[in-house]
Amino acid sequence: MSINVLIVDDSSTMRKIVQRNLKQTGLDLGEIFQAGDGQEGLAVLNEQTVNLVLSDWNMPNMDGLGMVQAIRANEAWNHIQIIMITTEGGEAKVQEAVAAGANGYVKKPFTADDLEAELASAAA
Ligand SMILES: [Mg+2]
Repeated sequence: MSINVLIVDDSSTMRKIVQRNLKQTGLDLGEIFQAGDGQEGLAVLNEQTVNLVLSDWNMPNMDGLGMVQAIRANEAWNHIQIIMITTEGGEAKVQEAVAAGANGYVKKPFTADDLEAELASAAA
């Protein structure tokens, strides 16, 4: 079954990089959606079927942690896998997102292999 992915990042360049890495994985991809912050991300989730969210941490309006909390507060979104994308040294903060219900994280800069490995362990 193909998976629909939502990429959330306030940097359009970063969204492109994430999308490119995603396409280099062996994942059977369906639709790929993009959002510029947590609020936009939730709006996409309200309208589309999404299986996997790849999210930045620092974003205006609603950051990655806020979005993880909002996703996990909605039972209809229980099935959604969430992987945080963080900078070097950001692991401590990302642990908050993991505690809030994110399934894992990758550090920038990351390769398609890094992303695929994290997705495999998150799904296990
Ligand atoms: Mg950012």
